Amino acid sequence: MPVWGGIEAGGTKTVCAVGTGPDDLRADVRIPTTTPDETIGRIVQFFRRYQENEPLAAVGIATFGPVDSNPDSPSFGRITTTPKPGWAHTDIAGIIQRELGTPVGFDTDVNAAALAEHQWGAARGIGNFVYLTVGTGIGGAAMVSGTLIHGLNHPEMGHIRIPHDRAADPFVGSCPYHGDCLEGLVSGPALEQRWGQKGHTLPPDHDAWPLVAEYLALALVNYICVLMPRRIVLGGGVMKQRQLFPMIRARVQALLGGYVAVPELQEGIDGYIVPPGLGSRAGVLGAIALAARPSSSRCPQRAR
Ligand code: ADP
Ligand code: ZN
Repeated sequence: MPVWGGIEAGGTKTVCAVGTGPDDLRADVRIPTTTPDETIGRIVQFFRRYQENEPLAAVGIATFGPVDSNPDSPSFGRITTTPKPGWAHTDIAGIIQRELGTPVGFDTDVNAAALAEHQWGAARGIGNFVYLTVGTGIGGAAMVSGTLIHGLNHPEMGHIRIPHDRAADPFVGSCPYHGDCLEGLVSGPALEQRWGQKGHTLPPDHDAWPLVAEYLALALVNYICVLMPRRIVLGGGVMKQRQLFPMIRARVQALLGGYVAVPELQEGIDGYIVPPGLGSRAGVLGAIALAARPSSSRCPQRAR
């Protein structure tokens, strides 16, 4: 059985692990994400040490974005226009591949987490699903017929425009690009700006939650109408507010108005809009899944 390496590069910390899945993580390390030189140096050091005992078949990189995940692009494998100091245009996949001498899988942290949920978590065996993380930002991944969608680039499902009643909710939104896109309305920082306190300190019966559920339900209805996913997995810090799930399910049903007559959207809704199956390890497991599934990332997807 081949052994893979996984790198989850986050804005503040990077997690590296070696293994084959959730029941077999053999070594791991947490590295603060500082400069690219220092951080990538420590990543390489960790895997080289492991490779002295056992070769790695491939290494997967799941990284904060934005990234260029188009294998046909000359800048494939790079972190692109990130505001994170020093990291813009870092060729993380190229450097890792050269330094470790292994093939690499490369994608966003969101796509990788979706892949892990597909392989081992809440979307196991489901080839058509949407994974949305509602945290510091909002990111989404869509798997269609077993393939994570990559068109021009990875999807930006957090930046969709949804109806915003400014009389009922005068908050202008926190997205630096769009103001009141979905991320601008209900990401963790948006909640903090609108209500002046962090999301986890808002009580479960606060007025915030029906509003958050409404916006997320509007977004989900759009994803449903476009993609008809067989399941929707909602993760990220904000979704730790579990009371959101029944509210979102009810609003999705009401907004669809019974138009899509399938049991999953009616009596089966509790099993349709679900929390993730993997906890905080989803990111690094996703990186390992990227290493193990070349068709989704490492090899160019020529079909468009
Ligand atoms: P990231 O998106 O940075 O990878 P998370 O998914 O943990 O990390 O999201 C962090 C965001 O989620 C922060 O803005 C934080 O305030 C918010 N958050 C974390 N826990 C909760 C909670 N229990 N309830 C509401 N918001 C939360
Ligand atoms: Zn936006």
